Amino acid sequence: MERILNYIHGDLVPAASGAFMDNYDPATGRVYSVVPDSESPDINRAVEAAHAASARWQSMGIAGRSKILNKLADMLEGDAESFALAESMDSGKTLTLARTLDIPRAIANIRFFASAIMHESSDAHITDHTAINYTERVPVGVAGCISPWNLPLYLFTWKVAPALAAGCTVVAKPSELTPMTAYLFSKLCAEAELPPGVLNVVHGAGSKAGHEIVAHPGVKAVSFTGGTATGKKIAAVAAPTFKKLSLELGGKNPSIIFADCDFEQALNVSVQASFTNQGEICLCGSRILVEASIYERFVKTFVERASKLTVGDPLHHDINVGALISSAHRDKVMSYISLAREEGGSVLCGGEIVHVSGRCSGGYFVAPTVITGLTQQCHTNQDEIFGPVVTIAPFETESEAIAMANSTRYGLAASIWTENLRKAHRVSSAVQCGIIWVNCWLFRDLRTPFGGMKDSGVGREGGWNALNFFTEAKNVCIKL
Ligand code: NDP
Repeated sequence: MERILNYIHGDLVPAASGAFMDNYDPATGRVYSVVPDSESPDINRAVEAAHAASARWQSMGIAGRSKILNKLADMLEGDAESFALAESMDSGKTLTLARTLDIPRAIANIRFFASAIMHESSDAHITDHTAINYTERVPVGVAGCISPWNLPLYLFTWKVAPALAAGCTVVAKPSELTPMTAYLFSKLCAEAELPPGVLNVVHGAGSKAGHEIVAHPGVKAVSFTGGTATGKKIAAVAAPTFKKLSLELGGKNPSIIFADCDFEQALNVSVQASFTNQGEICLCGSRILVEASIYERFVKTFVERASKLTVGDPLHHDINVGALISSAHRDKVMSYISLAREEGGSVLCGGEIVHVSGRCSGGYFVAPTVITGLTQQCHTNQDEIFGPVVTIAPFETESEAIAMANSTRYGLAASIWTENLRKAHRVSSAVQCGIIWVNCWLFRDLRTPFGGMKDSGVGREGGWNALNFFTEAKNVCIKL
């Protein structure tokens, strides 16, 4: 059985306690590797290593850092197929998705920030010809990067790449549920000539290793992606230490379908937005709001499409929906489907566990589920379920659609479907979300700000936002 190891000061090592936790393949329900159960001594060592490496990493300058990051991206690309396979096995997502989304995007993240730093400019302000101010951006120091299980390497690199590019050294913790690709990535670092201690990857439970990173006085910034409840805990622990904090949290994203949309496109993309990665993407559209005049037609065809999605062995190329991350998460998703029934919802398709025969008979599969007949105020429409479950509800007017879209505590993303440009602008402006897609979903330009309003987070990632987060602005005023 493979033993995943921490990566501290350039060495692959077990936790100081020697303790390991089981790591499951969600598609089979079997333990297939073990992961270090790291604690405070491991985090202390990693933070020390990161501090010790800081001066050397900064002295390499932007060209030196960019070169090494590009080398890492090239190596990852060279090994993309084995990374995709590892990601699929570790998370239950389909191999097709890991191949086409997760690993290509991880490579793109690294290349993007390796290139961005080469184009960075700094501000200068001339004050009435009596003084010159220039603003330097200095790396914040040791950064903590804590990432979730749903897009493991994709979100790991979304944090680690800008932190390293900005000149920070890093202590990163992937989810204990999906440690494998971060481990494989750490094995590439020495070969890419990343100096020891620049990136440290410490595995373990969020409540132990994750908590220790957030609480450590030597960590000057924490970039976290995960659930809103965890974000709240992290904010409370970090506040007394005055760390910089970036929180990318949960969502309950509306897809608003107006009658004047391109029906076929809206339908196809809404099915993808609901069920891609088993609905385990923070950006998934989990509440579909449809204008009343096309509601019946939309529901009927949506259910037909959802029912045709194939659920099963993630390694098979003709499978659309893989396994949920864990048995506990499958049970949570199923409990929300029961709750939806109690709340008066009609389950039009799915609503059940899927039993897959053969290799995957012990896996955690749930059928794509479509529910109607619920108000926006019920738990099913207010809580993040994070599984292959979507609700559809009708609206009569634009203002009603906006009110429904804004009716949750979340504000991460929304999709708006209309061929009327004025309406698209109006509704985009009124919907309280950090990311609005018009006539598309998950269409990303890495330069744009990424993050949520309300309980979906604090701060923005992406482009200069990420590089600014991992640096401090220092203004120098020279009197002439
Ligand atoms: P969690 O909040 O449970 O965990 C996220 C990460 O934080 C994991 O590495 C976890 O470790 C760690 N962690 C848990 N508790 C603590 C703690 N007290 N201190 C420090 N770290 C901790 O989220 P999930 O992994 O379950 O991911 C799903 C959630 O992430 C969903 O709510 C989803 O919406 C959100 N998400 C948000 C995105 C966004 O960009 N806004 C993108 C993707 C997901 P461990 O797993 O080992 O417990």
